[in-house]
Amino acid sequence: MKKIATAAAASLLAACATTPPPLTDYSANSGAARNPDQQGLAFDKADLKLRIEPDTRSIQGDATLTFGTRSTLRRIDLDLDRNLPIDAIAVDGQPLGPERWRNPQGLLSIDLPQPLEPGRTVSIEVKYHGQPHVAKRAPWDGGFVWSKTPDGQPWVASAVEGEGCDLFWPCIDHPTGKPKVVDEHFTVPGPLVAAGNGVATGMNVEPDGWRTWHWHANNPSTYGVSINVGPYKELSGDYKSRFGNTIPLHLWYLAQSEKGARELFAEFPQILDFFESTIGPYPFGDEKMGVVETPHKGMEHQTINAYGNGYAKTVHGYDDLLQHEFAHEYFGNQLTNADWDDMWLHEGLGSYMQPLYSQYLHGDMDYYSWLMQFRGGVRNKAAIVSGKPRREEDVYDTERGGPGQDIYVKGALVMHTLRELIGDPAFFAIIREAVYGRQDPRPGNFKPRYGSTREFMAIAKRISGRDLDWFFQAYLYQAALPELQAKQDGKRLLLTWKLEKNTPFPMPVDVRIGEQVVTLPMTNGSGSIDLPAGATWTLDPHAKLLKRETSIERYQAYEDARKAKAKADAKAGAKANN
Ligand SMILES: [Zn+2]
Repeated sequence: MKKIATAAAASLLAACATTPPPLTDYSANSGAARNPDQQGLAFDKADLKLRIEPDTRSIQGDATLTFGTRSTLRRIDLDLDRNLPIDAIAVDGQPLGPERWRNPQGLLSIDLPQPLEPGRTVSIEVKYHGQPHVAKRAPWDGGFVWSKTPDGQPWVASAVEGEGCDLFWPCIDHPTGKPKVVDEHFTVPGPLVAAGNGVATGMNVEPDGWRTWHWHANNPSTYGVSINVGPYKELSGDYKSRFGNTIPLHLWYLAQSEKGARELFAEFPQILDFFESTIGPYPFGDEKMGVVETPHKGMEHQTINAYGNGYAKTVHGYDDLLQHEFAHEYFGNQLTNADWDDMWLHEGLGSYMQPLYSQYLHGDMDYYSWLMQFRGGVRNKAAIVSGKPRREEDVYDTERGGPGQDIYVKGALVMHTLRELIGDPAFFAIIREAVYGRQDPRPGNFKPRYGSTREFMAIAKRISGRDLDWFFQAYLYQAALPELQAKQDGKRLLLTWKLEKNTPFPMPVDVRIGEQVVTLPMTNGSGSIDLPAGATWTLDPHAKLLKRETSIERYQAYEDARKAKAKADAKAGAKANN
């Protein structure tokens, strides 16, 4: 998802939301470690029948999940919000008595009629119903969004990245819990449209006039499976890929948004040009590039990206929210973090695609304007990677010790610095290998894959032919940024890198002296150079390096104080008015 835009927008969204029933801690968080029983399952297929009832804000679900078994299993553990009561469960078509399942905390445990040997296949059908958790502030505090279009028709969306798929279907709520195939059958009041993941496989009108929309998706991310219902109009077209395939393009939008939607749709080919020429083949070209207008800001739902940016225009000349969410088709849906601890792979690389796209379209000024905006947001409260398994919110929430927005902005700036250090050919080869697992990706020769920080580091080392452990150790595993200390001693300029954990940091530094730029190798973390009499100097004049800047810390302290005062004044004002 996109990093949070403004406090004003967030509080507006919060004010519009209704109070949801409480979630257990287990359901509210995505990515708890999978227990041994869950690890014994290979998730082959999810067939999801969902009836979505906007009037009662409820759903009726009938999910048939097919698993292969890797170990001997006596029970099946699935994740499902306990606020969705179970109506019936069947194993391989045999109904189970209610004494054979329990769901006290959101871990739905189902006792099998007889143990399953490894290498078997089992199908579990779960029928359930209820009111799914309502988002407080989608997409950041997620769930279902029951909204209305400007002309009062139902407009429904789900956004569950932080909380997980278990808010509305029985699943394995961990990044590695992707089913190989998901078939969706979403039943909605006619004439509403349900835009789904993957390929449309038809629509049928039910005897009561409701409509069931059918979709088929391969390897969707667990939180990528989404609900999008509205009185949508649709724009569609084709994109001829440089890799020889043709990619279907689809945009579902509200009638009120006709002009903006047409302008946004016109951006699709250019976005694909950039990604396919810079990174590689669009990973889901045999399904679609799909976008749907949503009542929340946006979310990287696989092949049906949620878009709620109001068709805004910016100085960059493209819709950066769409471009960001679309970047997650590569960094998130194709390359998926094996654990939420590695989430910078989604958000750091996903965010770096906006400056990179700006540079591709308009050149350096636009590129560096993005980097400067990112730089102002780097907080360095916690390291980007902890090295331990973490749940999604433990990464997002700085109060829980997570790096928060740094996975976006600092992650992107780390990628910029890496690119400057090793050069474009090595940098883009590393990205390609991380995304596809190979250097020659073509449609059909790769599948979505899991990656980790450790793997990324190993790829970077192998492709660049350089020891880069010091680089990643400094930028990903330490909270504080490397500090470049400069001291002038007579005519001698002395430079020293200072790191939080005193780890090696042989990062070369450019110094402009008068009209000349000199590179100091800083082999042992320090270097020096003589200055001509009266010469002025600038460190890192071409902005290659991410390093500590006290000027930015002063700006952040000033901004924090200003915002705290404004908040206190508003509170005092509200009190005085009461
Ligand atoms: Zn994102």
